[in-house]
Amino acid sequence: MSKALPTRSENYSEWYNELVKRADLAENSPVRGCMVIKPYGFSIWEKMQRALDDMFKETGHSNAYFPLFIPKSFLSKEADHVEGFAKECAVVTHYRLMNDPVTGGVVVDPAAKLEEELIVRPTSETVIWSTYKNWIQSYRDLPLLINQWANVVRWEMRTRIFLRTTEFLWQEGHTAHATSAEAVAETEQMLGVYATFVEEWMALPVLRGIKTPNERFAGAVETYCIEALMQDNRALQAGTSHFLGQNFAKAFEVKFQDKDGKLEYVWGTSWGSSTRLMGALIMAHSDDSGLVLPPKLAPIQVVIVPIYRDENQLARISEKVALLVKDLKKRGISVKYDDSDAYKPGYKFAEYELRGVPIRLALGMRDLENGTVEVARRDTKTKETRTYEDIVDHVETLLETIQQAIYDKALAYREANSHKADTYDEFKEILDSRGGFIYAHWDGTSETEEKIKEETKATIRCIPLDAVEEQGTCIYSGKPSSRRVVFARAY
Ligand code: AMP
Repeated sequence: MSKALPTRSENYSEWYNELVKRADLAENSPVRGCMVIKPYGFSIWEKMQRALDDMFKETGHSNAYFPLFIPKSFLSKEADHVEGFAKECAVVTHYRLMNDPVTGGVVVDPAAKLEEELIVRPTSETVIWSTYKNWIQSYRDLPLLINQWANVVRWEMRTRIFLRTTEFLWQEGHTAHATSAEAVAETEQMLGVYATFVEEWMALPVLRGIKTPNERFAGAVETYCIEALMQDNRALQAGTSHFLGQNFAKAFEVKFQDKDGKLEYVWGTSWGSSTRLMGALIMAHSDDSGLVLPPKLAPIQVVIVPIYRDENQLARISEKVALLVKDLKKRGISVKYDDSDAYKPGYKFAEYELRGVPIRLALGMRDLENGTVEVARRDTKTKETRTYEDIVDHVETLLETIQQAIYDKALAYREANSHKADTYDEFKEILDSRGGFIYAHWDGTSETEEKIKEETKATIRCIPLDAVEEQGTCIYSGKPSSRRVVFARAY
């Protein structure tokens, strides 16, 4: 059996890296910051994609695909956008290699220099708005509600598998509207879709809020976000939805004729969520024995392990299990019967624990005689014996119970690690001793926000949408403030 994982309290970061590797989710690639997503990891991502995609379609969006390469000139059409992304762009300058006549090694062919350099998309606003110019002429063409599933590249300096990679998979929605109000409503709707997905599917509670101007998406008028708390008390931004105003419409001359025949610039939104969600899922729920997956996203929801001495016993157990598998599948439950002879039951138990399979059933000869099944829950690591008769019903409700229990646990954790701070000393004390979300007053200026970040590494995660009016004074400057914002050290 492989040796135990590092524990979370020993070294959280090591625990995470090892878990990603050992649970067969992903591995690093030869290019720094890029990753290979392995089949087990990818099947979780596929489940996420399917659920999100269904939600996008239910809210009226269609999928399309735009190119990977963007002419360099496009990126500079929106001033803030290029400034925000310039530092992390991968640029294609040549289109051919050749053998060096002197060394014989492979080099870039200087004759194959591109006339205009290309950017590997870090996000697709520019290429999409340049296309929308041709698609939108009249109010009848609006709203235009498009989503794309794609990979993007941002040359990140500090990378961590899934959470922040150089290349990542994501979806990006890009919508165009006739009015500002409609575009804002869309921005808020999609934030709601993300929050619902993360809470109901990933079993992870999120704060919904608005980013400060410092943290806003480059080119947006307003950035909405959802923020989750990880088990090391650092925050993770799990999705963003941007109100773009008319910025990209102006940059790409996208106008429409309104009902009165007047030409107007189009209003835009964009919203994205990425394979970072995989990192959030792993970090938020897993324990020192391995992954803990919410049943709705678990590739295998139930594993059945036979306990036997010889071929004859295995045959008898398998016969009984075959019926069980059929009945579970009928209810739409994904089930695996692991009758492989290569490993002992104890080894299998540990492997499925590591991989986060929510329910494990075990059947031995005594169970056959007694008409029972042993049921083990991954999230609580509890075991019980149930009758074979009602096992299918039990498993079905237990999956729902586990989904809810994982959410409740994460919510209780977040509540226990959310604090108010009224002075800067108190703020720093909480940050250094416990971390978590800290609700504090802020004077609303970028200078204060940056000073606090410099001195403590904590950033304003969001101005919560449900923040209540409360008169107070900024923990840093002492200036008046009318509501608390949420600070944390973040990934
Ligand atoms: P943005 O376009 O910057 O608003 O980001 C859209 C989504 O992609 C957000 O949910 C981010 O958390 C996520 N994201 C941004 N950068 C990365 C990265 N380097 N690796 C993984 N996900 C990312």
